[in-house]
Parts: sequence; C-alpha cells; structure tokens
Amino acid sequence: MKSALPVPRRRSLNGKQAILTLLIAGLLSLVAGSIELARDAATMRDEVKNQTDHLLALIDGTAAEAAFQLNPDLARQVADSLFDGDRVAQVALRDDFGRTMASRERDDDASTNWLVTLLFDDILHYRRTLVYEPGQGAPTTQVGEIELTLALDSLGRDFMSRGLLVFSLSVIKALAIAALMVVVFHAFITRPLLRVHAAIVDTDPRRPGEWPKPRLGRHADDELGHLVVSLDRLLKAFQNGLDQRDQLHQISTLDGLTGIANRRRFDGFLPDAWQHSRRSRQPLSLIFIDIDNFKEFNDRYGHVLGDDTLRAVASALSNTVTRATDLVARYGGEEFVCVLADTDMAGARAVADRLREAILELAIPHAGSPHAEFVTASFGVASAYPAEEDEFGFDALLERADAKLYRAKHHGRDRIVWEP
Ligand code: GH3
Ligand code: MG
Ligand code: MG
Repeated sequence: MKSALPVPRRRSLNGKQAILTLLIAGLLSLVAGSIELARDAATMRDEVKNQTDHLLALIDGTAAEAAFQLNPDLARQVADSLFDGDRVAQVALRDDFGRTMASRERDDDASTNWLVTLLFDDILHYRRTLVYEPGQGAPTTQVGEIELTLALDSLGRDFMSRGLLVFSLSVIKALAIAALMVVVFHAFITRPLLRVHAAIVDTDPRRPGEWPKPRLGRHADDELGHLVVSLDRLLKAFQNGLDQRDQLHQISTLDGLTGIANRRRFDGFLPDAWQHSRRSRQPLSLIFIDIDNFKEFNDRYGHVLGDDTLRAVASALSNTVTRATDLVARYGGEEFVCVLADTDMAGARAVADRLREAILELAIPHAGSPHAEFVTASFGVASAYPAEEDEFGFDALLERADAKLYRAKHHGRDRIVWEP
C-alpha cells in the first residue's frame, strides 16, 4: 500500500547525534582549553619569578664584589652572564652613587599581544640592592644595585608555544571523549531505537498485531522497553479492532437464517463479477431459483419446518456451487440466486440441472404441491458476454434471468427455463 503523502528526505539519527555531540565537545573543549591555559599561565608566572630570583641570587656575590671594587670589567662580565639568551631585555649594574658600571639592552618586540602583556607585565622588573660581606665578623656594606628587565616578547613566545600544546591536548581529549560518547550513545540508545523503527516500518498495516516486536535485551525494564510494550499493546488493540470490523463485515454479508451470502453481498458481488467478465472477455451467467408453492408448504407444515427447508435448500445449493469465483445467495424469501463467473449458457444449464437434482435429492415431502410429491424449485437462467462499453449490463442480465423464472412458473414449475 503506497502512501499519498510526500516521503520526507531521510536523515540519519546517528549522523545528527554525532554532529551534536561534536558541537558540544567543541564548546566544552574551548572552555576546558581556556581553563587549562589560565592555569598554565599562573604556573609559568611562578616559574619565571623563581628562575629570575634564582639567577639574581647566583650572581649576587660577584655583582657585589664588582660594585665594591668599582671594577667595570667584572661588572660587565656579570651583565653579560645575565644577558645570555633572549629572556632578558635590559640589565644594569650601578655603584653606590648610582653611576652605571655596566649595562646591556636589547629591543623588545613591541607587537606582543594584549594577553601576554596582561599576564606578565607586572613580573618584568627586578631590582636588587648589592651588599658586600667582607667576612670575619666585619659589618656588611651596601655597595650598589642591579636592575633587570625581562623581555616580554620572549615570554610571549614561550607562553604561546606552551599554550598551543596545552590547548591542543585539551581539544584532542574533548574530541576523544566525544567520539566515545557517540559510540556509547549509538550502542545504548540509537541502535535499539533504530531497531524499533525498522520493526514499525516492516509492519504490515493490514496485520499490525503480527508486527516483528523487537527484543531489546537489557532495555527491557527502561523507557525503551516500555515503549516497545506500549507499542505492542497499541498494535494488538488496533488488530482487535480490525478483526472485529472484519467479523462485523462478514456478519453483515451473511443471511441470518441460512448462513449463505445475503442480498447485500449479492448486490456487491454482481457488479464486480460483471466488470471482471468485461475485462477478461469471458461469459457471465445467472440462475434465479424460487421454491415452488412454498406458501402452501408453510401453511401446511408451519414456519418452523419452512425455515428448516429453506436452510436445507440453501445448503444443497451452496454445496453444489463450490467454485471460489461463483456465488450462491439468498435473494429474499424463498428465492435464491446463483452467479457463475466465466460460464456460458451451456455451462449454466448444466449447473442448473445439478441444482435441481440437489433439491430433489433432499426429498422433503410437500403434500400440498399440485405437481410433485417433494419440494421442488423453478429456475431461470440467463447468460451474457459483457460488452466493453456495457458497464451496467448486469441489471439487464438480472431482469432476463427473472423473466425466465417467471416463464418457468408460468409453464408449470419444477423446471429450468433458459434463453433464447
Ligand atoms: P410460487 O411457486 O409461485 O413461487 O409460489 P410460492 O407460494 O412459493 O410463492 P409466494 O411468493 O406466493 O410465497 C412465498 C412464500 O415463502 C411466502 C412465505 O410464506 C414463504 N417465505 C418467505 N420467506 C420465508 C422465511 O424466511 N421462512 C419461511 N418459513 N417462509 C418464508
Ligand atoms: Mg417467490
Ligand atoms: Mg415460490
């Protein structure tokens, strides 16, 4: 059965879930990366301060010596040793009178970004007073000072390369967690959901109660399991409704007294048989059957026996016409009708003969009949090859069969009359 509704473009639940998870992972990794970066900046600040303090402590004695002796060569050596590498931007060694004994300076790259300035600007400058200790209990003397400024661009480069590593690791961690989440969600939620979906798609809408109910194993006691149970109940209830509808439909097309097809069934069947014969270019025949002198029978034997007789005749008729494409129906009262698909006049006459025989074989006594000992019937037979253009010719066929039945009655009953 095809739906008239447009089929929506199918998107994969897995794909959506993966994209969403990756988006969330991306956002989380940005946040986590930023936090890691801030923590690393704090660590790096402590490291820079400690290293610089350590460096100044190392040269403290020699610098004090140089200032005490007012030795410019030694002072220059101290300045050079501090200036090694690119971490220091400026160093100056002064004597106690503030005169510069040695200094080194390099241009700091002014293009350093705002973040580096914000993080390190307050730990760039160091000033230490130089104190000379002559030893052997002699008092210490202040002999000068040393001033050092760290290079912001060098700190910036270090921070950026460390930061990049920290940030990248954080993003990789977040992506790995996201990938794991995609796999876990797929295994625990998406795959069982897709199985429920596939089962619904495979369900025959005419037999919803026979849907291939999925077994979800460990989901039996969670929402997914409950979803399947609820769906199962719903589809079974739907199936019950369909079964009841079919039963009602069947009941409504059966005759209450005889159990064979009723007039309503016949009225629907004949046009269909006619259209089928038109399409297949096969003949269609009709036999009208009417029990003879049945009023007399009822009057003599009573309605209960009359009903029994109707049932017996109906069963004799339907046991004789057994082809699936044929139909025997109670037309009303003591009249029956027989539709014979793909059957011409010769075939219909043969069937009528057998039907007449079947009623005679019942041998139901009918003492009130003026012409027979047992219950008999009269038959009118008509046959046609439905023409392509004759869409509603079945009415005429019915009238012709009825006219033949009238002739059979007129000519003395207990007989078959056919065309021409
Ligand atoms: P004919 O040979 O001309 O057909 O005579 P007939 O008496 O059979 O025809 P008529 O139409 O005069 O009477 C039909 C009778 O069938 C009337 C009624 O008593 C009987 N009949 C119709 N339906 C039923 C039924 O459901 N049960 C019983 N017991 N009798 C029925
Ligand atoms: Mg009648
Ligand atoms: Mg009759």
